[in-house]
Amino acid sequence: MTMAQQMGNQPLIVLSEESQRTSGKDAQSMNVTAGTAVAESVRTTLGPKGMDKMLVDSTGSVVVTNDGVTILDEMDIEHPAANMVVEVAQTQEDEVGDGTTTAVVIAGELLSKAEDLLDQDIHATILAQGYRQAAEEAKDTLEEIAIEVDDDDTETLEGVASTAMTGKGAESAKEHLSSLVVQGVRSVADDDEIDTGNVQVETVVGGSIDESNLIEGVVVGKERVHDNMPPLKEDAGIALLDTAIEVPETELDTEVNVSDPDQLQQFLDQEEKQLQEMVDSIADAGADVVICQKGIDDMAQHYLAEEGILAVRRAKQSDIQALSRSTGSRVVSTIEDITADDLGFAGTVAERELDGEEKLFIEDVDDARAVTLVLRGGTEHVVDEVERAIEDALGVVASTLDDGKVLTGGGAPETALSLGLRDFADSVGGREQLAVEAFADAIDVVPRTLAENAGLDPIDSLVELRSQHDAGNTTSGLDAEAGEVGSLEGTAVEPLSVKTQAIESATEAAVMLLRIDDVIAAGDLKGGSGDDDDDDAAPGGPGGGMGGMGGGMGGMGGMGGAM
Ligand code: ADP
Ligand code: MG
Repeated sequence: MTMAQQMGNQPLIVLSEESQRTSGKDAQSMNVTAGTAVAESVRTTLGPKGMDKMLVDSTGSVVVTNDGVTILDEMDIEHPAANMVVEVAQTQEDEVGDGTTTAVVIAGELLSKAEDLLDQDIHATILAQGYRQAAEEAKDTLEEIAIEVDDDDTETLEGVASTAMTGKGAESAKEHLSSLVVQGVRSVADDDEIDTGNVQVETVVGGSIDESNLIEGVVVGKERVHDNMPPLKEDAGIALLDTAIEVPETELDTEVNVSDPDQLQQFLDQEEKQLQEMVDSIADAGADVVICQKGIDDMAQHYLAEEGILAVRRAKQSDIQALSRSTGSRVVSTIEDITADDLGFAGTVAERELDGEEKLFIEDVDDARAVTLVLRGGTEHVVDEVERAIEDALGVVASTLDDGKVLTGGGAPETALSLGLRDFADSVGGREQLAVEAFADAIDVVPRTLAENAGLDPIDSLVELRSQHDAGNTTSGLDAEAGEVGSLEGTAVEPLSVKTQAIESATEAAVMLLRIDDVIAAGDLKGGSGDDDDDDAAPGGPGGGMGGMGGGMGGMGGMGGAM
């Protein structure tokens, strides 16, 4: 449809013919449907007894995961409103490293509760105000019930790591992995900054998870390019290259015509000379070790070996970055320009066997510390999922060290919040009160879902939770192991920041979506609201029919038969 206005006698066409416009209630309802569908798609994975999803992409590669943000990334969601909810998960992942499913589920429930109020003609602005007030109040309450943790409280930190890994395929070795995670984060922690990127995770397929271990330093999964290179270098100057040590290819359409052997020799000599010069630049800068992201020419390998330089090629970019941080080395793109200033240093660089393959261990670095967690597991899918669990665990341990506060999880904080917010609502009054009450109801989605996923009756569980909290048992949550409501103190420990961030970003996303009453799309709006313009929607396209996703994962047909 087009937006036309009369200007004098001339209609003024503002929008092109192809654009689609949805306004008012329809727009709100379309956005709510899309947002809640996203939440619905990850709901069953929440908590220690949450289920996993098998995601198959168009090339047939399979990911089995329970991790909210991974699921949403792999799903390739196209609807713009749905994507705003996906962003909630991404923000959560970036900021605190865990709680992605929780944040999305809360956002979805805030939207769906809001829709009821919109239907009762409560204005979106009032709703937004009420939701924001409720979120502020909720954050205050969380601060109040949070427990302080000392940096040297290893037991609590390990509890935090272990809680983040619960239900994620690492069950059997949770204690061992938690201890590695805490050691890892501690060894890279600076005075006031923790970059968990300095804890690299190296996965090894084969062996059992409890054989996983921690190495001080960075492991590059490559062997030296030439047998004549030394396998060990001490007090080594390290050069990082993101360019190949090769003579650049001649232009594609030029031909080199050689008429006699001398000319050919000249041509080859010329190439060799260039390679020799490159290696000379590297050696003159004082490099003992070269980590190259691209290729290294055979001849250059030989020259490097002659100089006694240890070189590896085709290193991963992430390894180069980790090495740059930990050794203080600058990544060089133009070999002729390399100088001693570009080099970093490591006490030991050694080639050793790991899992039947030779790899390069760069240890005793003096700048920022770096460690590598060598993660072992039976199959690739297992190792990959445990790696995601470890990444979450690294994030929560760092967050805990950062703000020094934790909460007892398992639905306990959410129960406390919804009870507190109902009291608070009375003091708000006016129509906003209804919004605050809706917010309180929405927060209950966490304990309700944890109960459902643990096979418990959600209503009975909520009633029991409330009565225990009313009786002053503020750590009462859903003990999924015992299959009942009880204290989870010490069992489910989460950083305060995971909850505050989840509430904050879920509220922001819900409010932003609710305030939209006009959607103008330049092209076809994939997966419209489902209740109008159905004939215009892309038929069964990927993510099209987001409305259909509400009914479970059935709408994921676009993913090449996932599920
Ligand atoms: P998210 O992506 O939100 O982190 P998870 O699947 O990791 O989703 O589930 C997190 C929820 O599970 C939190 O509410 C947390 O408190 C709860 N939880 C974790 N461990 C336990 C446990 N042992 N018992 C009960 N609840 C737990
Ligand atoms: Mg989690």
